[in-house]
Amino acid sequence: MSGEKRSEFDVAVIGAGMGAYHAVEEAAKKKDIKVAFIQGFTFQEWPLAACIFLNNPKEHEKWTSGVAETWQEKKWPNVTYFLSSVETVECEKKEITLMNKGPDAGARITYKALIVATGAKSPLIAPTPGMSLSERVKEVQACGQALKNAKTVIFNGSGLVGVEMCGDFRVHNGYGAKVILLSRSGKVLDSDYGEKSRKPDPAVVQKVTGILTEKFKVEVKHASVSDPTYTDAILSPGKLKLDNGETLDFDVYIPCYPVRPNTAFLTGGEGKQLLDASGAIISNECLQSQAYPEVFGVGVTTTKVPGHPVSARITIASQHCGKQALALLQGKEVQKFVDKGTPPPMDHPMNMKIGHGPGGYMIWSGLPGPAKICCCQCCGGGFPFCPPPCCWCCIPGCAHGCGTCCGPPEGEGPAIFMVGLLGKFPGSHGYKGLGNYGPEIPQQMRMS
Ligand SMILES: Cc1cc2nc3c(=O)[nH]c(=O)nc-3n(C[C@H](O)[C@H](O)[C@H](O)COP(=O)(O)OP(=O)(O)OC[C@H]3O[C@@H](n4cnc5c(N)ncnc54)[C@H](O)[C@@H]3O)c2cc1C
Repeated sequence: MSGEKRSEFDVAVIGAGMGAYHAVEEAAKKKDIKVAFIQGFTFQEWPLAACIFLNNPKEHEKWTSGVAETWQEKKWPNVTYFLSSVETVECEKKEITLMNKGPDAGARITYKALIVATGAKSPLIAPTPGMSLSERVKEVQACGQALKNAKTVIFNGSGLVGVEMCGDFRVHNGYGAKVILLSRSGKVLDSDYGEKSRKPDPAVVQKVTGILTEKFKVEVKHASVSDPTYTDAILSPGKLKLDNGETLDFDVYIPCYPVRPNTAFLTGGEGKQLLDASGAIISNECLQSQAYPEVFGVGVTTTKVPGHPVSARITIASQHCGKQALALLQGKEVQKFVDKGTPPPMDHPMNMKIGHGPGGYMIWSGLPGPAKICCCQCCGGGFPFCPPPCCWCCIPGCAHGCGTCCGPPEGEGPAIFMVGLLGKFPGSHGYKGLGNYGPEIPQQMRMS
C-alpha cells in the first residue's frame, strides 16, 4: 500500500499480539464492515518463549514466523493487514499514521472505532515497534552472546518473567556467572503476580525463593531503581545506581517488567484526559476511553483485567472490545466488561516457570479441578494411581510432566514438558507458521 493513500475503515485494531488478533476476529464477524489490522511487523514472535530464545538465540527461529502469508487469515475477507507500525493516532481526527518504514510506510488510515492492543514496552523481551525481522534477529543474537559472556547479570523485576529469565539463564548459560534478581519488595513474585492476582500465595513465594536461591544460585536483592536510564536493557558492562545510593556492576542488565503501556503514539485534543501518568488509557468499566468513546483498549487501560491465566484474560478482553466496537458502529449501548472466560479468572498462575527444558524447573501451583487430579496434586500417588485418561492415554506411563510419581507436582520433568506445551497454543492466538524466518534472513544469520 502506498504511503500517500488514505484509507477509510470502520474498525482499526493496533497490535501484533494475541489481544489484537482476538479483537480483529470478533470485529471481522460482521462481514459488511471494513477492518484495518495494523499488525505493525513483517514477522510474528511467540512472546511466551522470550526467555528461552533470549538466552539461547538458536531457539529463536522455532518461535518466529517471517512469512506473512502464513498468519494472514484468508477467512477474513473484510480485513486489511498493515505491516508497518503506528507512528501516531490523532484521536481528534480519528486518523492513524504509520511509521515511514516497512511495507506500508507512511500509510494513513481513518477509523470510526479503534482498539488499541499494543501491550507494554518490554525491552528485548518484545520487539520494538518498527523493527524489521533482521534487526530483531540481530538483537536477539546480541542478547544471547552478551548473556553467554557475562560474569554478572542483573534482571530487574521479580515477577513471573524475571523468575523465568533467571531459570532460563542457568539452563542455557550454566552457573559460572553471578545472577542478581532485583525486587522492589525484597520478595519474588511481587510485581505482575501481585497485581494480577488478589494476593501471592506465601507458600508459593517461599518455595520459589528457595528454589531460585538454593538450586539456581540467584541472589534476590531488595532494591528499587527509579533512574529512567534503566528502563532500557544494557548489553555491555556498566554500573546500576540503586535508589538507596548503592551501585552494582553488571555485564548485562535487563528490565523484566512491563515498563509502560505502548500508547505513546496516542494524541488527544487540548484538555482531553486521554492517558494517565503511566501511559494507560483512562477508561471506564467498558474498557472504553473516557475522552474518546470510540477508542477501546486491551491490557493498556486504567481498568485492569485481573486474574490468571493472563492470556485467557487478554483473549476475553479483546473479544469484548471487538464486540463493543461493533455495538458502537450500530449505535447500540456499549457494555461493561465482565470476564466470563474459560478458564475463569484465577487468583494465582497455574504454573511457575523457572527455566524450560532439561536443567529447568517448573511448579504446577494453581491448576483447576480435573487437571489437578491428573497432575497428582490430590493424592501425590502419580501413575498408575491417576484416573484415566490422564497419563494412561496422553503419554505412555509417567513422563514426569506433572512431577515425579509420589512427589510434589514440580521439578525438571514439568519444565521439559512445558516446552512441548508452549508449542500447542500459538495457533489458537493467531501465531502461525512459526519455525520459519522466511527469505529476509540469509542462511549465514541463522544459528540453528
Ligand atoms: C516471557 C513471558 C512468559 C509468559 N508466560 C505466560 C504464561 O505462561 N501464561 C500466560 O497466560 N501468559 C503468559 N505471558 C503473558 C502473555 O504473553 C501476555 O499476556 C500476552 O502476550 C499479551 O498479549 P497482548 O496482545 O495484549 O500484548 P503483546 O503480546 O505484548 O502484543 C502487543 C504487540 O503490539 C505491538 N505494538 C506496540 N506498539 C505498536 C505500534 N505502535 N504499532 C503496531 N504494533 C505495536 C507490540 O510490539 C507487540 O508485539 C507471558 C509473557 C512473557 C513475556
